[in-house]
Amino acid sequence: RDLPADAETGPQTRQVHGAAYSRVAPTPVAAPQLLAYSREVAQLLDLDAAAVAAPEFAAVFSGNRLLPGMQPYAANYGGHQFGHWAGQLGDGRAISLGEVVNRAGERWELQLKGAGPTPYSRRADGRAVLRSSIREFLCSEAMHHLGVPTTRALCLVGTGEAVERDMLYDGHPRNEPGAIVCRVAPSFIRFGNFELPASRGDTALLQQLADFTIRRDFPELAAAHAPASAALYEAWFGEVCARTARLIAHWMRVGFVHGVMNTDNLSILGLTIDYGPYGWIDNYDPDWTPNTTDRERRRYRFGQQAQIAYWNLGRLAGAIAPLLADHEGLHAGLQRYVDTFVAADRANIAAKLGLRECEDADVARMESLLELMTGAEADMTLFFRGLADVDAAAGAIDALRDAFYDEAKFAAARGAFQLWLRDYAQRLAQDGLADAERRERMNRVNPRYVLRNYLAQGAIDRAEAGDMGGVEELLEVMRRPYEDQPGRERFAGKRPDWARSKVGCSM
Ligand code: AMP
Ligand code: MG
Ligand code: MG
Repeated sequence: RDLPADAETGPQTRQVHGAAYSRVAPTPVAAPQLLAYSREVAQLLDLDAAAVAAPEFAAVFSGNRLLPGMQPYAANYGGHQFGHWAGQLGDGRAISLGEVVNRAGERWELQLKGAGPTPYSRRADGRAVLRSSIREFLCSEAMHHLGVPTTRALCLVGTGEAVERDMLYDGHPRNEPGAIVCRVAPSFIRFGNFELPASRGDTALLQQLADFTIRRDFPELAAAHAPASAALYEAWFGEVCARTARLIAHWMRVGFVHGVMNTDNLSILGLTIDYGPYGWIDNYDPDWTPNTTDRERRRYRFGQQAQIAYWNLGRLAGAIAPLLADHEGLHAGLQRYVDTFVAADRANIAAKLGLRECEDADVARMESLLELMTGAEADMTLFFRGLADVDAAAGAIDALRDAFYDEAKFAAARGAFQLWLRDYAQRLAQDGLADAERRERMNRVNPRYVLRNYLAQGAIDRAEAGDMGGVEELLEVMRRPYEDQPGRERFAGKRPDWARSKVGCSM
């Protein structure tokens, strides 16, 4: 690291100026216990089953023991939250242990979430509960296997300590089991890391951080442009815009709702980061948000995600503007976001509908389908997965009856769906893909399994009762979301009635 660090004065909460991070050690926990881990991420780090099973593993990934060379730190960043500048935030409960370079030469940063207070913990405790840790652990891995850029999760370690949380379901404080997730990514730098020094007029630190980020994480840009040149910063911003666009298009394709798209929760690498009150679309509804504190403003609802990402990129542009003499290049970057998103969205339309390419009429075709699905409460995942096998020319919507939540609404929309299907059948005929190939293409982008909120909740309930079987099962199913997995049909079922308004809750 060649960035300015805050002094080593322990985790006392403070404003940290002139530094991009603070050194801080994890706070040891009472009884670390490995609860789950991801085979794939262990492999990425060259860790075999024996290494994971060793008692030292849980000791290290609970923060109880540091390995030689680890220099734990918490990052300093700010952010716009719900549309307003919030000042310094920082890693309040995340502590990075260091970086690992694996045998393939890839560099991975390891970060504990819930490992105790840092200078950025403000009034909170720096801890995480088992419930939210399971949600982050499972969803990071599910997203990866769905092909969505994301931070990964190596493991989930129970702390053996209780964590007090209020505001849960009844407004009363409650003790919950604590847990720590080890996140893994090339970088955890967020838009907000750049916004904070910019907000303080600290252009030297801003530039140092930008140069560091480009050198470490965008080496192809560093190679193509002169150091500290306008062309370099503009190319970098454009790349961040393009990656963010592709990320959001993926979210829209699989029905993921982030829920807290504040600028401190957007990754400079275009990864999904910070799994808080996220959720998955069951019945297609662009207005749905999993974030109960966002219910009224609905800023972070499903259908709004592309617009919010653009807004956030605007804040990032403002932050790095002091590095540039004029802002033409930043405007061009924002335009690149729009163009990339539109192209990715059109590619999604073609792929989800099984077409070679997306024509303008297909955009309208998809829009009218989504409108029908919204009104009739069709399950997004079941509907698109099932669509591949429907006899569209016959208008055979009844074959998809199981994808609907409400009999009466289905009955009312039945005729409109039949018309839509017949028109779609004509379009397929004109497009000319062979049926088998069309189906295969559709099944590669329309998952059978997603981490439905009620599924995660079921695994959490079991885990809180001491049984990790539900987490293991879900992790296993979500490893192959596009494959039909015989015997695992129950993981593909639509949300049961009891789970209708239950939402994830993050803290
Ligand atoms: P989030 O909304 O989860 O992105 O969190 C916003 C800010 O609150 C970040 O700076 C977090 O590090 C901080 N934060 C959230 N939960 C805790 C906690 N339990 N202890 C300390 N800081 C927290
Ligand atoms: Mg956050
Ligand atoms: Mg969070």
